[in-house]
Amino acid sequence: MKFGGTSVGKPDRMKHIASLLLNEPEPAVVVLSALSGTTNTLVEIGNNIAKGDRHSAQQVITKLEDYYQAFIRALFEKDETYNKAKSIVAEHFDFLNIILKISFSEALSKDILAQGELLSTKIFSTYLQEIGADYALLPALEFMSIDENEEPQIGSIRTKLTHLLEQHKDKKILVTQGYICRNARGEVDNLKRGGSDYTASLVAAAINASVCEIWTDIDGMHNNDPRIVDKTVPVEQLSFEEAAELAYFGAKILHPASIWPAQQYKIPVRLLNTMQPEAKGTLITQEAASTGVKAVAAKDNIIAIKIKSGRMLLAYGFLRKIFEVFEKYKTPIDMITTSEVAMSLTIDTHDHLDQIIKELEALGSVEVDENQTIISVVGDHINETPEIIKKLFGSLRNTPIRMVSYGGSKHNISLLVAAEHKNQLLQQLNHGMFGL
Ligand code: ADP
Ligand code: ASP
Ligand code: MG
Repeated sequence: MKFGGTSVGKPDRMKHIASLLLNEPEPAVVVLSALSGTTNTLVEIGNNIAKGDRHSAQQVITKLEDYYQAFIRALFEKDETYNKAKSIVAEHFDFLNIILKISFSEALSKDILAQGELLSTKIFSTYLQEIGADYALLPALEFMSIDENEEPQIGSIRTKLTHLLEQHKDKKILVTQGYICRNARGEVDNLKRGGSDYTASLVAAAINASVCEIWTDIDGMHNNDPRIVDKTVPVEQLSFEEAAELAYFGAKILHPASIWPAQQYKIPVRLLNTMQPEAKGTLITQEAASTGVKAVAAKDNIIAIKIKSGRMLLAYGFLRKIFEVFEKYKTPIDMITTSEVAMSLTIDTHDHLDQIIKELEALGSVEVDENQTIISVVGDHINETPEIIKKLFGSLRNTPIRMVSYGGSKHNISLLVAAEHKNQLLQQLNHGMFGL
């Protein structure tokens, strides 16, 4: 059971989660995120230190500490547990204050980011102690790890976690940190923003759980982005493939990589609403229960690159040369389209962009468009349903489309548009494809 930032972000919500857990018949590993807003604040602290602005970093740390002090004052009733929580908060903020004096490094910034999940899990565990619940705290840094390619090592996660669980066989609630892990150098690292979902799926796969529940602030995966579109509805069921496409192409409710571990180990995933536990939410399983369009998602900050070469005409090997450049800089490509003389593709990171462009320029003329958005329409076998294609293209109206990707997967049709057209297009698709 994974609870996200908003689900643990207020003292009352923590109490509510504790009561959900007490009513849970099966033993559960409980993966917690940092309290909402904390990771953003830790990013800000790291950025200030990186810039050499220690004064601003200090101010942000003090404000965050005040917030945690107030949080625990509201959460605890008994002196013993309140004092314990107070010393936990003091310990982590002492650490942040010490870091202020050390010279900045990438590894140090990861240590800063880890404080959110460490704090939330220790505070929550202390609350479980206060109410007399039967719990244990499993330190994620002792079992969650990634290799030199930043891939989780599921075999080793399984061995270490199983060992830890054996030490707490009698416990029903096993609390652990989402997001944080150790890297190949043994340093503290993380699974990237939103990574607690990924932790939950990895843990579920590692222990062969009966279900992986992702508890958040909305009643499941909606058919469109509820932050942008007025009228959206929850989707009752999705296949792993549909859910993976939606997560990868921008549905924020799930971390982009969070589906594969559950899919590979055939663990059903449920998306549930902490604020409304009785709502059905979304069930994600092997097969799609129905065909047709399920949802639309948008992925921002996309860079489109077009490489044009007179020499591509009938030239095999041109694509390989292009892909080798991206392989060299470990930069994944999301969308691709080709014509006889040019190829367009998209990436989602500026890391190494300058070097990539320089190397591509040796192969042909290069055009770069930043600030693009991929809009993906996802559903089982949608590319085989002419009616859907008609509705989709009918919904576009006059929106200029930079690229279309169709046929790469049976479950996804993607469009690339300039970011300024995103909101309107999501709305048009909501109306045109879902009649909402
Ligand atoms: P948590 O902190 O629990 O991990 P997130 O903020 O990461 O929660 O994810 C939940 C949020 O994802 C929702 O509040 C909603 O605004 C956003 N979201 C974006 N797209 C979708 C979608 N298709 N369905 C549901 N929620 C979505
Ligand atoms: N706390 C981390 C973040 O904000 C991880 C998560 O919430 O899933 O990105
Ligand atoms: Mg999240």
